[in-house]
Amino acid sequence: MDRIDDLLTRRALLARATGLAALAGLPVGCAVAPPGPPAPLGPSARLGPSTRLSAWPFTLGVASGDPLPDSVVLWTRLAPEPLHGGGMPPEPVAVEWQVAADDRMRTIVQRGMVTAMPELGHAVHVEVAGLEPGRWYWYRFVAAGAESPIGRTRTAPAAGAPLDRLRFAFASCQHYGQGYYAPYRHMARQELDLVMFLGDYIYETSARDEIVRPEPHTAPISLVQYRNKYGLYKSDPDLQAAHARFPWIVTWDDHEVANDYADDQSQDRDDAAWFLRRRAAAYQAYYEHMPLRRRALPDGARLQLYRRLGFGDLVAFSVVDDRQFRSHQACPPIERAGGNLVPDCAERHDPRRSMLGAEQERWLIDGLDRSSARWNVIAQQLLMAQIKHKSAGTAEFWSDAWDGYPAARERLLRFLAARRPANPIVIGGDIHSYWVTDLKRDFDDPASPTVATEFVGTSISSRGIAYERTRATLRDNPHVKFFDSRKRGYVRCEVTPAHWLSDLIAVDNVTQRDAPSSTLASFVVESGRPGAIEIAPSSHGV
Ligand code: FE
Ligand code: CA
Repeated sequence: MDRIDDLLTRRALLARATGLAALAGLPVGCAVAPPGPPAPLGPSARLGPSTRLSAWPFTLGVASGDPLPDSVVLWTRLAPEPLHGGGMPPEPVAVEWQVAADDRMRTIVQRGMVTAMPELGHAVHVEVAGLEPGRWYWYRFVAAGAESPIGRTRTAPAAGAPLDRLRFAFASCQHYGQGYYAPYRHMARQELDLVMFLGDYIYETSARDEIVRPEPHTAPISLVQYRNKYGLYKSDPDLQAAHARFPWIVTWDDHEVANDYADDQSQDRDDAAWFLRRRAAAYQAYYEHMPLRRRALPDGARLQLYRRLGFGDLVAFSVVDDRQFRSHQACPPIERAGGNLVPDCAERHDPRRSMLGAEQERWLIDGLDRSSARWNVIAQQLLMAQIKHKSAGTAEFWSDAWDGYPAARERLLRFLAARRPANPIVIGGDIHSYWVTDLKRDFDDPASPTVATEFVGTSISSRGIAYERTRATLRDNPHVKFFDSRKRGYVRCEVTPAHWLSDLIAVDNVTQRDAPSSTLASFVVESGRPGAIEIAPSSHGV
């Protein structure tokens, strides 16, 4: 603690470059202290336990994430006024964190001090180490005499150790203005080991019609504006409850920055240098509000998000980033970049086009090739299966999804067919509808082998895509086993060595915070046999 405070004296702060990169080498938010009383506060921690803030600072709740067998990230952000820049004085603030073996925080097993920095919006990321594998812990924070809510988290089982079951939910697309987070209300009551979030945590634009919840802000460009947007979204009590109850593993899609962006190109074709400054602000706000490890601390407009997390010998998640490194969308109409329904143009098939960028693609394939896990999950953002839209007899494809990057998809599916890593499962979101598909070696040949199973979850609250029009495309896409865009919800998965079970959980509506939920459909994958089989909807726990 003393060393950190030495590093973070105001003098050092002023002397350093203003960019966040200057902070990258510092142990910000990672003070891991042995069990015992908190270390004394250093000179830079201006607000001690006796100092009062204008209001309670834990308005955004607590969260945890990226569980390892011995470590988990604990998160909070001090923000007495979350919709107006946070409301904190522009000073470093000392925060105590505590980890306990019980839900009343009676048996503290670790505690320490961390400094919440104004440069990071007084966000706190604690990478707790020295924990036991495969067990629950409880945690909280104390700052300026205030206590946070108590969160619960769980470490991963020991690497490679036999694991007979993993239960998790995956979710995406939570437009605040378009609905209440009724799905999270149900999710928080489930028995799960973790939650995967697959993108569109915020939306930069507010709802224009059928507004369920009014939003006070215009589209964010600056860091403070993005912080305010997260402040609004994270003020939701059902979202906070789901974060407080399980560790989350998160990745992003487009709306954490702006609709349908691709690397340095926005859909409105803004100046690339200007857009990268906006992206840098958005990436920093994302880091500040997610339970990510310090390796994800952004460096300008770059943020290292793709990573791999293992759960015993049972499941390995490859979590990918489909936005930062992708080629621009193919064959755009002159006036607008971003996603479009495009003809089967030559550019679409260009083998130099990439969804993940060359480095991430290599990382993904190498990791899958080396994995010894029973189930290998590619946790990504989009629908991966080919979806042909017939228009006046000719095929069109949605250029923002994997259909805009068929050569990159082909490389991945060819690898899966040739090297056969065990039980590849692709999970995704983005499209505000449920999809269960067979990922084919050749989508244009129904007889070609299924090389992986895909489950795409519907949105938490964002409006669904057109149902009838999309349904009409299914006859040209026989590898689609299930589609529905009429309900909001999430997907609950139970994984054992022999089976993968996905329950598609739906809520009746998102105009009501407490709308009831039901299981829309359930699918099983048998180990060793790619392709999902529909079973009677599971009724348990909904
Ligand atoms: Fe979305
Ligand atoms: Ca999206």
